[in-house]
Amino acid sequence: MICDTCGCANLHHKMLEGHSIAECQLCGELHGDPDDLQNIEEIREGDVQGYDREIYPLVKTITMITGFKVLSASAGFQSKGAPPFVNFKIHGPKARVWLEKVITSLMMANRELEKRWVVEVTLIDGLSFTLKPQMDCPPHLVDATAVQRARRPLTPSMPPSGKSAISGA
Ligand SMILES: [Zn+2]
Repeated sequence: MICDTCGCANLHHKMLEGHSIAECQLCGELHGDPDDLQNIEEIREGDVQGYDREIYPLVKTITMITGFKVLSASAGFQSKGAPPFVNFKIHGPKARVWLEKVITSLMMANRELEKRWVVEVTLIDGLSFTLKPQMDCPPHLVDATAVQRARRPLTPSMPPSGKSAISGA
C-alpha cells in the first residue's frame, strides 16, 4: 500500500479516535474507511474550534444551515448535572424557513429518542435559540445518569433522520 497523496510506501497503521487507520510517515495523509476519516476530521475540527467532541457534529450541522450562527455549545457535564446544548441565532427570512424545517425534523427525530430535544427561545439581544434535551426535573436535580441519557443521541451524531432532513436541500 502506498500513499495516494505523495506515493510514499511508509504507512504506519494505528488507532486514532477509535478508528483503525494508516498514516503516511512522509506527508501525514490518513488512509482508511471514508466514514472513519470523516469522523476523525470532524473531531479535529471541533478541537480546533474549541467545541466538545460529542457536540461538534451537531454544531457543524447547524452552522451549515443558511443564516444560522452557533454562539456556544457544550456536550454537557455529567459531574455538574449540566445537559448538552447548542445555542444559536438566525438571520434573514431564509433562516426562518429553515428554523421551521429544523424543528420539524427534530419532532420526527424525537419519536426515536429517549429524551425529547427541544428548541428554547429566549430574548437576549434579539431572539436566541437553544437546542437541548428536555430534562424531566429542575436543573439542580439533574444527575449524571440523566445527562448521559440525554447525550446519547449525540453519539456518534444526531439521528440520521434529523441530519438528512436538515442538510438535504
Ligand atoms: Zn504521503
